[in-house]
Amino acid sequence: MFNSSSLSKTDSHLPSETLDPLGELRQQEVVNYLKQVIEPTLKNDIISLGMVRNLRIVDDYIYLRLYIGSHQQDLQAKIESILSPINWCKKTYISICTIANVRTTLAISSGKGGVGKSTTAVNLAAALKLQGAKVGLLDADVYGPNIPQMLGLGQADIETVDTAKGQKFLPLEAQGIKVMSVGLLAEPERPLAWRGPVLHKIITQFIQDVEWGELDYLLIDLPPGTGDAQITIVQESPICGVIIVTTPQQISISDVRRNIYMFRQVGVPVLGIIENMSYLICDSQPLQLFGSGGGKQLAEELQAPLLAQIPIDPRICAGGDTGKPLTLADPNSAVSQIFMQIATGLNATFSPV
Ligand code: ADP
Repeated sequence: MFNSSSLSKTDSHLPSETLDPLGELRQQEVVNYLKQVIEPTLKNDIISLGMVRNLRIVDDYIYLRLYIGSHQQDLQAKIESILSPINWCKKTYISICTIANVRTTLAISSGKGGVGKSTTAVNLAAALKLQGAKVGLLDADVYGPNIPQMLGLGQADIETVDTAKGQKFLPLEAQGIKVMSVGLLAEPERPLAWRGPVLHKIITQFIQDVEWGELDYLLIDLPPGTGDAQITIVQESPICGVIIVTTPQQISISDVRRNIYMFRQVGVPVLGIIENMSYLICDSQPLQLFGSGGGKQLAEELQAPLLAQIPIDPRICAGGDTGKPLTLADPNSAVSQIFMQIATGLNATFSPV
């Protein structure tokens, strides 16, 4: 389902500014060395996996940002060691982007709202949990944070805890899934009107200051589109792959194309596309209410796997409204089985035993 090629279509290591010829040579030399560092679980090099970003050579110094999960700490030493033969380099500065105790951080994204992104995030979290993983769900959709409602959580006060690294938020727990949502900070029925630096600060705090405990997966429900909020989250969290949700019609597809380009540019691998609301079963026949073939066309054009085509099912909607995701309420339903298959694919890729 997920293949190594979808984990390697990023161009994050490319210099964002124009370098002089010497700088360019040095940059390429460093990239070549870094390509020798293989991440053992994913069996691919850290450049192809988008784990190294913001690589800069300034005078005789190398600067880079390393995006890692809790089990990948030793990559820093490996990088230092692999770069040590470079004789012009006086020092390598590695800044680490990680979330304490979280192994794999994945994002769920969409080009626009209303396509079923949060529904997918909740049901995928449920499927991973049913398969025995410890799962957290970070609702970072600042424009429509409705994950708590979809998991049956009412407005609750967020508690804090003192840790060695300062005060942290404690996530809530619903149906075995740990949850933190920007919506929990807001008054019900009021829009979240954060902008600019305040938005940036709140998002950064949400990523860095939650005491999740040990997690196998943290799923981040991103805001739709490619705006400031989304870019901040992508830069500040160690997302090692993103799943894109779309509906089949053309208008949705062009937004998704932009979305995918954005992820590839910042260096986050696109794991695949889920086409939601693909059809409605009517008199035992699939009825394609919103057109057909959009997800498939996009998957071919952008060489990203089409992970699933999910039908319109009133029970998905009811699951969201009643706070019990269909995948937990009826794990054997056809739609739940689709999410279970995606979860199986994720486990095979990110946590092989
Ligand atoms: P987004 O996060 O992209 O804004 P949501 O996940 O909130 O979208 O979904 C929007 C609405 O559509 C919700 O009411 C949800 O229950 C419903 N919905 C999503 N996917 C389906 C589906 N496959 N069948 C029926 N209803 C769906």
